[in-house]
Amino acid sequence: MLLLRIAGLVMLWAWAAAPVALAAEIDHQRAVAAGDERHNWLLHGRDYGEQRHSPLRQINKETVQDLGLAWYFEDHTDRALEATPIVVDGVMYVSGTWSVVYALNAVTGELLWKYDPRVPRTMAGKACCDVVNRGVAVWRGKVYVGTLDGRLVAIDASSGQRVWEVLTVDQSKPYTITGAPRIVKDKVVIGNGGAEYGVRGYITAYDSETGEQAWRFYTVPGNPEEGFENAAMAMAAETWNGQWWKLGGGGTVWDHMAYDPELDLLYIGVGNGSPWNRRLRSPGGGDNLFLSSIVAVRPDSGEYVWHYQVVPSESWDYTATQHMVLADIEWQGEIRKVLMQAPKSGFFMIIDRVTGELLSAEPFAEVTWATHYDLSTGRPVETPGADYADGKATVKPGGGGAHNWQPMAYNPERGLMYIPKMEAPFVYVEPEKFVAKPGWRNQGTDRSEAPPGNELLHRAISRRIAQGFLLAWDVKRQKAAWEVQLPTPWNGGVLSTAGDLVFQGNGDRRFVAYAAGTGELLWEAHTQSPILAAPISFEVDGEQYITIAVGGGGAFGLMSGVKPPPGAARSRFLTYKLGASLALPAVPEPAEIPAPPPLSDGDELRAERGGVLYAENCAYCHGVGAISGGTLPDLRRLQPSSHELFNEIVHNGLFSTLGMPAFGEVLSEEDVKDIHSYVLVKAHEDKALRETPAWLLSIKKVWYEVLAWLISVFLSASAASA
Ligand code: CA
Repeated sequence: MLLLRIAGLVMLWAWAAAPVALAAEIDHQRAVAAGDERHNWLLHGRDYGEQRHSPLRQINKETVQDLGLAWYFEDHTDRALEATPIVVDGVMYVSGTWSVVYALNAVTGELLWKYDPRVPRTMAGKACCDVVNRGVAVWRGKVYVGTLDGRLVAIDASSGQRVWEVLTVDQSKPYTITGAPRIVKDKVVIGNGGAEYGVRGYITAYDSETGEQAWRFYTVPGNPEEGFENAAMAMAAETWNGQWWKLGGGGTVWDHMAYDPELDLLYIGVGNGSPWNRRLRSPGGGDNLFLSSIVAVRPDSGEYVWHYQVVPSESWDYTATQHMVLADIEWQGEIRKVLMQAPKSGFFMIIDRVTGELLSAEPFAEVTWATHYDLSTGRPVETPGADYADGKATVKPGGGGAHNWQPMAYNPERGLMYIPKMEAPFVYVEPEKFVAKPGWRNQGTDRSEAPPGNELLHRAISRRIAQGFLLAWDVKRQKAAWEVQLPTPWNGGVLSTAGDLVFQGNGDRRFVAYAAGTGELLWEAHTQSPILAAPISFEVDGEQYITIAVGGGGAFGLMSGVKPPPGAARSRFLTYKLGASLALPAVPEPAEIPAPPPLSDGDELRAERGGVLYAENCAYCHGVGAISGGTLPDLRRLQPSSHELFNEIVHNGLFSTLGMPAFGEVLSEEDVKDIHSYVLVKAHEDKALRETPAWLLSIKKVWYEVLAWLISVFLSASAASA
């Protein structure tokens, strides 16, 4: 009897100690029906159609006021988090910076295991847009992650141990992986990035059990002398000229895919050209397939089925890698199987996903590069001069896009697509002389424009010309239903719920719920860090949860230098539920700002040249005008020792194991001196600004607001005439 009791107690203890099941048994049947599992979030976009609409409704207009923080989990850095978590029966699988993977108890946030693929920190120099990862995939007891240095790793879902790993790129080339893998019928499909640096894009499928390569589909043709991999590449090569393969051609599939199980088509979004400038990439013209295209392939074989090119011969970094949503909608009296995308180029595309036929393209943001799409040909009609062949053009949208990677969400009941929209022009400048720098940025556009002279002006201009919105787009009418302007241009992805709510996190560090039909703000929470990722929703034991990853940076966040936070908060995964009221720990006090070393003779002169070099080499990460976006060090506020070691750090790579690349290949020691002079001049401007009396600062601000207004009027006039 006693023995039985002890055995019973042991069993009870074992049951209590294992409150979560780490089985993660997702197979084809379950994945196809993922949308029906109310309580889970099994696939990247929740279902294969990537609608990101949760059927849960416990959190709704009436109850959302009671939403509070249930738990938070800290990532190992304070850099950008972009991942969409996967939730399988109470367990959350999610990735952080440097491709680190976590398994968490979805109810408590308790860490079940952590897998660190040990990405070499020198990779930061090859990553155009921060050391981010957009999520994992889960399949038959394994978790899959693409690492920044180009590996695909399968991890045991219960132990967190690596099962297999394959190298999916040529590591001698500037490839990176930031996108989430997709799994279709036991094949893990992974793309890559690097088109700003010069690579040839492709996706590869691997057997989910063994890691054996099943197929590879290139998105642009290689050197014809080496023969084409398939008929699709031979066809694509007809649309290229010159020696495009030398810089790779581009067309990386760095983010979104979608799958239609009924048609058995995998849709991939293809990126921009290497370089951006089409005259340098393919002299003599051509559409340059499959740049900026949506391509449908067979998931079993990688065989090409159809393509639709969103922007033929793209020249503006107009990727079509943006989120694609599949839905069956009523279109002009018929039910059509459509694929919808709001790509960087600013037109909302509705495409027949059976055939690839363009049904409609209407601007969802201000667009100046094209006037419209001709539906009889399916092609855009370009605005003369927008391709900067004449030397220079201010174009909307800019390379950041009217919509970037941040996922949108589709509410099928309302027929509304919720889009994190950005309005930001870019000044494209034809280079006087283009010299390719293998392994480094090769965009084929000059950045010789001096950035605005001071921080106040820069901020005032930025606020006017770069703006962010949450846009609710009425798909059937192809026009806006409502729109909310946000305080910053670079904001988070979106979640739609059957509770008739829309959730979005913002660059100004607020997580917000809106009424799905009107955009009325119903609830908000302060998150300490800016938000880029998209929220998800799931349910455990009858309670609905909302999770969002917070942590700012990414392409625009690093470069724009718009709004540094007051103190560095750890990047976190935050989970909310009704009735919870946990508070985040206080943000640490910002460190005291060290005084810059005095300027010496010649610094002012050197700074002029240094400013141009800074814009070309440093601004992408440390911010335009040496104003950091808050994620990476603000060079104006370096410690005295870093000023002393400036050449060691920048030229020789003293901090390369921390993620600061060595620039010795592309910058001479003289160049580095010039950049340092520029940084010093900016540091003294920053010091003077901090010491300006409040009354004088107010007057200056008003003056710069007026100046910024005049500049923005001039810019929009020149954009309109481009
Ligand atoms: Ca790009």
